[in-house]
Amino acid sequence: AAKQAGRHRFCFFEPTMNLQVHEHLTVLQGIDRALSENQLFLEYQPIFDLQHDRLTGAEALLRWRHPEQGLIPPGRFIPIVEETDRIEALTLWVLTQACRELRDRFLPQAPDFKLTFNVSGVALQSDSLRDGVLEILAHEGVPAANLRIEITETTMMRDVGKSSETLRHWQQAGLRVLIDDFGTGYSSLSYLTNLPIDGLKIDRSFIDDLHPGGQFPVVEAILALSRSLGIETIAEGIETDAQLQALRQMQASHGQGYLLGRPMPATQLLARLDEARRDS
Ligand code: C2E
Ligand code: MG
Ligand code: MG
Ligand code: MG
Repeated sequence: AAKQAGRHRFCFFEPTMNLQVHEHLTVLQGIDRALSENQLFLEYQPIFDLQHDRLTGAEALLRWRHPEQGLIPPGRFIPIVEETDRIEALTLWVLTQACRELRDRFLPQAPDFKLTFNVSGVALQSDSLRDGVLEILAHEGVPAANLRIEITETTMMRDVGKSSETLRHWQQAGLRVLIDDFGTGYSSLSYLTNLPIDGLKIDRSFIDDLHPGGQFPVVEAILALSRSLGIETIAEGIETDAQLQALRQMQASHGQGYLLGRPMPATQLLARLDEARRDS
């Protein structure tokens, strides 16, 4: 039986390993070309003020259209790029595109528009990223007040002290900092005491089973926590009307999700902004 299990494990394990190694290679060899050959683009998922039913901003989400492999979702390449210093170039590319779209398209329609973009927690150790972010803002001429940084954590931050310095540097320039996927991952609660934070994005796993009239101690606790800290919240992954109503009952301030809008090209988001303006 042991021999059989061993053989089974062998058969199962080896192709998986090869696939992983192959995927790592494809990503790392491909990412520089992706940057230089315009294979990357952004989509924007709208963010709403839930209490006033108003479109207030969007999250910029990275997409990679690979010439042979088609569309590769960020969950498949970001964690690999994050292990290397290529993540800096990638982050700065995203910020540059986001700033241009914000300046040329979103802000002329909606001067209060808030655009969020994602920065890997691991990349906060990098001095060149710290400076690069502010250089791009200055160079593109975008007000820091219209941008928010979402700190994502697929791997643990190596040096919380250093990360905290970077975040303070950005905040002094007027940028706000949100913790992404709050409640999951490594040490979200300890980040609250060790990092300067302006807001939390409540992970979509907590939004899943919400419905009006129910008791949801964890979501209520996260909302109470942010109120007592005086920071903002954005609920992620709202897919049903029941979830939306429950969040409204709990006085959640902001949210995003497929129910309210999927990630979409800038042109489509502009149409949504235009619609919202005509309705009001
Ligand atoms: P995230 O930052 O938490 O982004 C939200 C993800 O949830 C997006 O997936 C979005 O499409 C998806 N989503 C939004 N609403 C719903 C919903 O109602 N239901 C469900 N099931 N999903 C929803 P996406 O675009 O595949 O991105 C996955 C992750 O990749 C992001 O999670 C973020 O961690 C990372 N990522 C994306 N773009 C960037 C980037 O420019 N830089 C970095 N460092 N990470 C990025
Ligand atoms: Mg995010
Ligand atoms: Mg998230
Ligand atoms: Mg996520």
